[in-house]
Amino acid sequence: MTDPPVNPNHQPIDFEPSTHPLQTEGFTPLVDERNRQILVSGICPACQGRTETPWPLASGGQKGWRRHTAPQLAVPDEPTTMICECGRPHPNRPQDDRYEGCGAQWTVLLT
Ligand SMILES: [Zn+2]
Ligand SMILES: [Zn+2]
Repeated sequence: MTDPPVNPNHQPIDFEPSTHPLQTEGFTPLVDERNRQILVSGICPACQGRTETPWPLASGGQKGWRRHTAPQLAVPDEPTTMICECGRPHPNRPQDDRYEGCGAQWTVLLT
């Protein structure tokens, strides 16, 4: 086993929930049809760590049936929130936080 590549620019800042503006560059959506998901990867604007977020692709058109609570649209054409999941240690990160990152969130456009 080899360790995953480490971004040398990563900043081990204290965990802090923070909201960053729309990131218009540096995030590339990649439609992964085989796994029925969209992968968006880029550099966290807070800690500079590399983070990758998958979104499930919608599983087929069901016209007129779209729950507001379901975030899985095929390719959302509005800004979509990403949460840092750099996988790097950040001091003070809550043990039960499901996102392994620095707490930053921001939006990206997928189209
Ligand atoms: Zn980080
Ligand atoms: Zn981060």
